[in-house]
Order: sequence, then C-alpha cells, then structure tokens
Amino acid sequence: MNHLAIAPELFRPDGFERGRVHRLSLMSGAQSIPVLLVRGEAAGKTLVVTAGVHGDEYEGVRAILETVASLDPRAMRGDLLAVPVAHPAAFRAARRTSPLDELNLARVFPGDSAGKPTEIVAAALAGAVIVHADFYLDLHSGGIAYAMPTMAGYDASDGRSAAAARIFGAETIWGHATIAPGRTISFARARGIPWIYTEARGAARIDPDDLRMMKQGILNLLCHLGTLPGEPVVRPIRYKLSGDGDTDRGISAGHEGFLLNHVRLLEEVTEYQRLGVLVDVLGEPMEEYRAPRSGTVALIHEFPVVKPGDSLYLIADRER
Ligand SMILES: [Zn+2]
Repeated sequence: MNHLAIAPELFRPDGFERGRVHRLSLMSGAQSIPVLLVRGEAAGKTLVVTAGVHGDEYEGVRAILETVASLDPRAMRGDLLAVPVAHPAAFRAARRTSPLDELNLARVFPGDSAGKPTEIVAAALAGAVIVHADFYLDLHSGGIAYAMPTMAGYDASDGRSAAAARIFGAETIWGHATIAPGRTISFARARGIPWIYTEARGAARIDPDDLRMMKQGILNLLCHLGTLPGEPVVRPIRYKLSGDGDTDRGISAGHEGFLLNHVRLLEEVTEYQRLGVLVDVLGEPMEEYRAPRSGTVALIHEFPVVKPGDSLYLIADRER
C-alpha cells in the first residue's frame, strides 16, 4: 500500500497504475488533503466524490471509506476519485468552518492557491480533484447543529443531474434552479460537470440508514456511469422538493437563546404557522418564528442553543 504526498498541481490521476487502489495526500500549503484513487482495470468514466467539506458532517466520510474498501478495481471500467475529508482543519476541530480563518469551504470556491487556508484547500480540490470528474458527488449532512432530510439535491436545469438524483436511492430529492456561488457544485456547474449533493439527518452521529443510502448511492452512480456492471438499486422517491437550498438564506436568529422547536423535518406547514420560539434561560420568549409561506420543512436548527445569525429553518416547495 503506497501513501504518496503530492502537490495539487502535480497530481495526474491518469498517471497511476490501473487495477488497484492508491492512497495519497495532496499537500496544499500546510494542509494535507487525503485522496483515495480507485483505478479501474479498464478505461471509463471518473466519478469524483467528496465528503467533509463541512468538518462536522460524518456520514459521507464513513460512506467513502467503506465503499472504497468494498470495491474491486479489477472489475471496474473507469475510476473513483474520492476525498473522504475535504477540509481537514475543520474536521480536526469538529466544526462546520475552519478554526484557521473562520471561512466556510462551501462558500469560497474556486478558491485561491495564494489565499487564506480555506481558499487554498478550495483551489486544490477544484483544480486537482473536481476538475477530473465526469460526474461529481458531494456528500453533506446536517452536521452537529442542523437536521436535514436525507436526500439528493440536483441541478434542475441539467437533465444529467436530475437523472442521477433519481437513481441515487434517496427517498427525498430536491431540485435547485439556482445555486449560490462559492460552492463545490457551483464550481462543477461552471465547468459543465454534472453533479448532485446529499444531505442527511446529521446531529453529530451517523444514522445507519443514512450510511446505507450514501454507500448504495455511490455504487448506484458507478453503475449509472458504466464504471460498475449492473443496474442501480433504486427506492421509490417519496418527496420531491424545489426552491432555494442555500442554508444561509433561511429564517435566522436575531438573538442568542434556547430554541423551542415545534415542527418536524418534512412536515407540511402553512403560511404564518409557528415553527418555533426562542426563549432565554428563564423561559421568557424573545423571538417567534413563523413560516414565511406554505411549504415543507427542509432544515431545522436541531441543536437547541443558538447564536445570533444562525439559520434556524428553511422551507422548501413540494412538487406533487
Ligand atoms: Zn455540509
């Protein structure tokens, strides 16, 4: 088993021997980004998968590690290029953002190799990893603070992305007409690379069902691309959501306090329905949050202690 440290600008997946798994790290400034390259025996398409773009989201990390361990590269036609921990500084701190510069890796793409630490990581991931994708999958979840439906999110303007979301195996899919700039997927989109991303229940633990969905989803995409033989194993889709998925643009807290949440994930709410109340430690209400319109609850700040500016709720539209 080799473990090579390499500069991002020198990384050429095509130069690695076929029919085996390569474990290496991209040395990006002072940061080391782990990379798993499964080189199929025969030539074919490349699926790029990242997890840990937010350092407190763990389902995708485990899904990548276990999936790579289960694959036989000699039976593959094409490659899997996977980064299990995309933002090592945030991962080590168990935080969504970097302790080095307070930046959110999912807001700084395409990054800057001469910039702040998080921008340097983004530049390495964009230029040395995502750029090699025939299809790109970014595994996210609710992390420590949020709960989100276990789902696949896709580009509603790209049929390749929508088709992949349908065969991924998630019971909830969410189509976005617009994508906020600075994300991994906005970089992929700008390069014409089709993509999907996931969310999962999060809450600082790995739900076995979510793990199973993500692992099967990676295999499903490999089948969909022709890298693995066989057909995707698909579950019926129960929820089709649409609308803006930017967690920064939800209903946010104006104070610090303790959130008394009154709704559940994927609950249907009507306009002006009460979602939750923020109280102080004596139980005095400080803010009340109501649905700005009818729709489906797609994000809840499950961690009850909130700070000013934290996103608390996101309401999506539901297609029938
Ligand atoms: Zn995330």
